[in-house]
Amino acid sequence: MAERPWIVLKFGGTSVTGAARWARVREIVDARLAEGLRPLVVCSAISGISDALEALIAASAAGRDPTDALAEIEARHRTQADALGVSLEDACGDLLDDLRRLARGASLVAEASPRLRARVLSAGELLSTRIGAAWLAEQGVSVRWQDARAMLTSEPARGLPAEVRYLSARCGTQADPALQARLDALDAEVVLTQGFIARNPQGETVLLGRGGSDTSAALFAARVGAARLEILTDVPGMFTTNPRAVPSARLLRRLGYDEAQELASAGAKVLHPRAIAPARAHGIPILVGATDGPDDAFTEIGQPLPGPPRVKAVVARRGVGLVSMDTLGMWQEPGFLADAFAVFKAHGLSVDLVATSESNVTVSLDLAANALPPEVVEPLLADLGALCRARYIGPTGAVSLVGRGIRAILHELGPALERFRDHKVHLVSQAASDLNLTFVVDEPHLATLVDQLHARLFGSSRADELLGPRWDELGEAPPAPQRAGWWVARQEELLEEAARGTPCYAYDPDTLDRNISALLGLRSIDRVLYAIKANHHPEILRRVHARGLGFECVSPAELRFVRGLFGALPPERLLFTPNFAAAEEYAQGFEAGATVTLDSVYPLRHWPELFQDRAVFVRLDPGRGHGHHRYVVTAGKQSKFGVPASDLDELLDLVARHRVRVEGLHAHAGSGVHHLRAWVDKATLLASVAEQLPDVRVLDLGGGLAVPDRADQDPIDLAAIDASLMAFRAVHPRFTLWMEPGRFIIATAGALLARVNQVKGKDGRRFVGVDAGMNSLIRPALYGAWHEILNLSRLDAPPAWTADVVGPICETGDVLGHDRRLPETAEGDVMLIANAGAYGRTMASHYNMRPPGREVMMPPSCR
Ligand code: PLP
Repeated sequence: MAERPWIVLKFGGTSVTGAARWARVREIVDARLAEGLRPLVVCSAISGISDALEALIAASAAGRDPTDALAEIEARHRTQADALGVSLEDACGDLLDDLRRLARGASLVAEASPRLRARVLSAGELLSTRIGAAWLAEQGVSVRWQDARAMLTSEPARGLPAEVRYLSARCGTQADPALQARLDALDAEVVLTQGFIARNPQGETVLLGRGGSDTSAALFAARVGAARLEILTDVPGMFTTNPRAVPSARLLRRLGYDEAQELASAGAKVLHPRAIAPARAHGIPILVGATDGPDDAFTEIGQPLPGPPRVKAVVARRGVGLVSMDTLGMWQEPGFLADAFAVFKAHGLSVDLVATSESNVTVSLDLAANALPPEVVEPLLADLGALCRARYIGPTGAVSLVGRGIRAILHELGPALERFRDHKVHLVSQAASDLNLTFVVDEPHLATLVDQLHARLFGSSRADELLGPRWDELGEAPPAPQRAGWWVARQEELLEEAARGTPCYAYDPDTLDRNISALLGLRSIDRVLYAIKANHHPEILRRVHARGLGFECVSPAELRFVRGLFGALPPERLLFTPNFAAAEEYAQGFEAGATVTLDSVYPLRHWPELFQDRAVFVRLDPGRGHGHHRYVVTAGKQSKFGVPASDLDELLDLVARHRVRVEGLHAHAGSGVHHLRAWVDKATLLASVAEQLPDVRVLDLGGGLAVPDRADQDPIDLAAIDASLMAFRAVHPRFTLWMEPGRFIIATAGALLARVNQVKGKDGRRFVGVDAGMNSLIRPALYGAWHEILNLSRLDAPPAWTADVVGPICETGDVLGHDRRLPETAEGDVMLIANAGAYGRTMASHYNMRPPGREVMMPPSCR
């Protein structure tokens, strides 16, 4: 069969799990045979097995009995074999025996070396391909199973850590005429082998690292001089961005090797970056497509096509860590970079992006791509410490704009780059290859940034020779991620409420109570004050009051409102934190019995009589803020809040002169803050200023605790914040600590209900128009805030559309959410806009003379 050219087909885990998928594998193999090609099929382990093998290793390495973990692995393969009508014992008996021996051995010595891990993990691919080959043979396919370790030998890797040598081995991309001759001579039309595994020159099993099956397939293609490499997976190719996150992403029909390499390296998951070089070295075209078709939707990767420079994709990569190295004058020393990079090499870490200045070198590490746990970072910093002052910054994420010749079109990117105005950029890198422009930002902002950039760059694009159909047009979209919120259990009640009139803010008391409990659980915080600007609905305030919290007010009206509900409160439960307030407002604050906070020296300078012989708090500007948008960062040069460091001497002088007792220092640096050390950093700063103010006993650390907007974001780690503040307290027993959150308490407890007025299609886009607009909820328009939007009338219906959800206000910015996956939606349906409890109704207006949403507190549920 030597005359038939080889085609390498790679099937990932989901493509080889279950009988229906193998039937599809067979169809594809038959189709390629009919094309006159000879398939070399490379398969991954069945879905979930790599994790199960990891669990087996963990159990054995801990000295636990591995029987249960082994039984689980065996059971999954038995299910697969039974579904295909294959005898598991005949196909895999020897492999399962080996696995048992390995696991029991490791359990006895309670240890799993990288060498042993490689052998255990290789079992997944060996098992799946043995079962698959047996089934294909029974179907009459002329197939021969081959052990990949007999075909692929890794390069010598002396000197590298064992993890890298065994778990992330490299192979050369050269052709292998001897292998080709051997395979050509086989008396079977189809060869079936494993991805991910190889052997080293000593004959031991090694793995090719994460995404190793793609790499294996490309290496085989290079070795046998294949006519084509096909990567068959669960998406029909590479897209302008991750289509699961942004369903209007467009299929990229054609990419140059260099662009695909850049896209894969920048984070596009569908193809592993190591898989491109071997194909490129031999000019082998790569097709990336979905196992289930459609047959005409795929990405072809090959020699670049001529054409003007153009951004082809917006790619996000999570799990990026930055290492910042202050070189303390060593920059001029020859060899600093070489020495520093040698340390990274010794730790088996490859450096990705690099930015340099006179005194600092900052590099990014892709922790996931290095397949090494983040714990690696500590010893790395220790070793770098011999050369420089090294610091780790994370978690950060990288967003890259990818396309050839990107420098030539920088001017066209202007409007898109405006998006970065609202986010802190830690590092910018423009690839020497001129293929990408990358920005490293705080990880929690990554998804929103990608949404916004993609909408700017591709929002109005149409299909052409480069851009194919949108993901949602391909009918591929999986269900939109829906956070399991309280509204699911209360769907009926909420629909009844909506029937009484929309728009309507509904509040769930149980969620409110849970949020309060979480804050009261902070051992380091002596007093929690609720920032009522977030939402001053009386029922909410009553519940907050009943749990013993205080109130943070920013206007005399807010003070009066609280006093109207609860009468006089002790000063530690009523805080007045105005800014740029008039003199009489401070007087009203004192009259109300509140603790009054000054956020500038102006009042002391101009109206000292108001403060003479009184106790006050002073709000300081900590100099550096955080937050989900620049409008909510309340510290630093750009912000109007707080006493800056440069005014401290005058402050000390004024308070001494007018016998003002500063009993508390305050700092609120922003809203939606994910940075876990933000609060302890503020405490440390306030404590250092308090050294000069002997009356200070309270440090108020402000609010700002972030709330996850999206299903894939974790809740903020309160325990970590608490631990850092407990450590602070141990060193500074003089102070009591206060906090004054708003969003954390009420955001997740509120939802905005809106009724669909109209549905409209325009120029390929779909709009769902509801009766709540930016006059009810301004956060999306003002901050680009992302709120989950669900069709409450059809919670269980599958998503069918991608639409912009818009309001009735006469402003282009009146959009509650772009590009949302929704079920078919009709006039009269009730839409639910989630996490709208904070800064929703309180920021609402009567713009266009439209009344904003009414409010209702739901009864406590009986759950
Ligand atoms: N404290 C002060 C002084 C504020 O200005 C704010 C918000 O603007 C807060 C607390 C509450 O912030 P968050 O709702 O993000 O917790």
